[in-house]
Amino acid sequence: MNYSLAQKRHSLAHVMAQAVQQNFPGTKIATGPDTDDGFFYDFDFGGVEFSEKDLKKVEKTMKKIVSQGQDYTYFEVGYDEAREILREMKEEFKIEIVDKLESGDFKNKEKISGKITFYINTGKWGKTPELQEFLKEKWYHSFEEMDGDQLKNLKFIDMCTGPHVESTRLLDANSFKLARVAGAYWMGNEKNQQLTRIYAYAFNDKEELDKHMYMLTEAKKRDHRILGAKLKLFTVSELVGPGLPLLQPAGMTMRQEIETYLWDLHKVRGYDRVWTPHIAKEILYEKSGHAAKFGDELFRVKGKEDEFIMKPMNCPHHMQLFADNQFSYRDMPIRYFEPATIYRDEKSGQLSGLTRVRAITQDDGHLFCRIEQVKDEVKTITDIIKEFYTTLGLTDDYWVSLSVRDDDKSKYLGTDEAWETAEKALEDASKENNLPYKRIEGEAAFYGPKLDFMFKDAIGREWQLATVQVDFNQPDRFDLSFTNEKGEKERPVVIHRAIAGSLERGMWVFIEHFAGTFPLWMTPRQVKIVTVADKFNDYAREVHNTLKSQDIRVSIDDSDDSLNKKVRNAEKMHINYILVIGEEEEKSGSVAVRNYKTKEQSVEKAGGFLERIKDEINKKKL
Ligand SMILES: [Zn+2]
Ligand SMILES: [Zn+2]
Repeated sequence: MNYSLAQKRHSLAHVMAQAVQQNFPGTKIATGPDTDDGFFYDFDFGGVEFSEKDLKKVEKTMKKIVSQGQDYTYFEVGYDEAREILREMKEEFKIEIVDKLESGDFKNKEKISGKITFYINTGKWGKTPELQEFLKEKWYHSFEEMDGDQLKNLKFIDMCTGPHVESTRLLDANSFKLARVAGAYWMGNEKNQQLTRIYAYAFNDKEELDKHMYMLTEAKKRDHRILGAKLKLFTVSELVGPGLPLLQPAGMTMRQEIETYLWDLHKVRGYDRVWTPHIAKEILYEKSGHAAKFGDELFRVKGKEDEFIMKPMNCPHHMQLFADNQFSYRDMPIRYFEPATIYRDEKSGQLSGLTRVRAITQDDGHLFCRIEQVKDEVKTITDIIKEFYTTLGLTDDYWVSLSVRDDDKSKYLGTDEAWETAEKALEDASKENNLPYKRIEGEAAFYGPKLDFMFKDAIGREWQLATVQVDFNQPDRFDLSFTNEKGEKERPVVIHRAIAGSLERGMWVFIEHFAGTFPLWMTPRQVKIVTVADKFNDYAREVHNTLKSQDIRVSIDDSDDSLNKKVRNAEKMHINYILVIGEEEEKSGSVAVRNYKTKEQSVEKAGGFLERIKDEINKKKL
């Protein structure tokens, strides 16, 4: 039998709970699900202090349990019996779960079966019908009456729906690692008691675990907050406020390059740039539905006479641009592009670096077309997405989620015919562009189907970045129309698309993907000239001015520092090319080049070097 990774992870959560209760008798258990990279379990250690230094002990006991080959077996009882068992076990948290299950108030009102399942771990006694019968009928009523052997063999019991592996023998003792200890409120509610959560990493085997641990170490080194400060890309100011990062010149250079590249990809495909203000009257968002959607996340601005909203989305603004024209079918599609900042009041506790921000700049665009034009337009957008991410080296292993309706058609807005055409258009465009797509039912927005692009970065992390969404709702809400061939009013379809997602998120991903050493076209600092001695400063300046006149981002270090120190300083800033200038170079009109990324060194004519890097920039080489 093949067990899923989730099953293994959750089975290990039981093992951890058992190990904790063995080392810390009297500890109460709450819940222990699997996670994306392992599992956790929440505990109440009573008055006992539990800290990270105790993890080793628990981990050791876990390995022992795994090697013992304990079986997982289960029995089912009714609510009252379950409570009786749990009272005997002194597991009050679980009793609360039973109460909630009974009242139909647990999570998504799930599993109202009337039955409660208990999973037990047993040792060499094994899983026999007799054991199940015994537990069901007797054990919790007469715990004390169990003989020594039976007690010894009953290792652990937990109320849980499973599923689990059959035996701990099927788990790998080297496939997991306890990660950290954190506080967690019971049932995720701040008003409840705070419990101790132990997180763990778990995979199929040691090799997978090692790979993940390597990725985590790399991710830490690549953390955009650390690199952002070191390379002076952006600043978070206490006075400006959390979630409102400011771009330093280097960060802005990067962002400008990305934005220019995005615009270059759009302008040759029929897009027009537009601009819309950052505030608008609330009625705009009431009409668009965003006021209800964003609720208290909206920032309000009080004027002398009117109150305004900081825009939470650009879409309604672009709808107004369209509405102010009398377009005919001959004008369609209409394509607007605007990198625009939107504002949402995220909880301050969640704000950090560029990951969660209150000012988000979307590389936004909306296009208005006829339903039969959706396919060609989506094809064009996916062309842009593929080109952009191939340039960034992110298309080696990516996939696309094609989110369509599920069977409950009443949840969705728009006619069946429009949905079928739009879903087919997205799927056909995906096929024709050879996108590795998966059709996912029920993931569509209520207003239309969409494509979401998932890219893997240099250390294997998956990021959702680009998105293409078909929308039947906004055109309706704003009563948009164009005149068709028959002279009648026809409703356009809107396609929302973002290529980088947001420029903040894009920069965050690119900083970590490239580990701060960016492709030459994007990097804020392309060339640093360092001199061996003062007397070569004139020649250095000559080279500097030549490069500068060709728009190369270059600077000179003509300080009194030693050559080694100057080179080290340039390397600290991940400057792509370091040019060393001394007597030989001046005499021959050349430069000694050090490539920071490849560590290659060469001596080249200054003019030859300039042509080479111009080519590297123009071709946007990786
Ligand atoms: Zn379980
Ligand atoms: Zn939009």
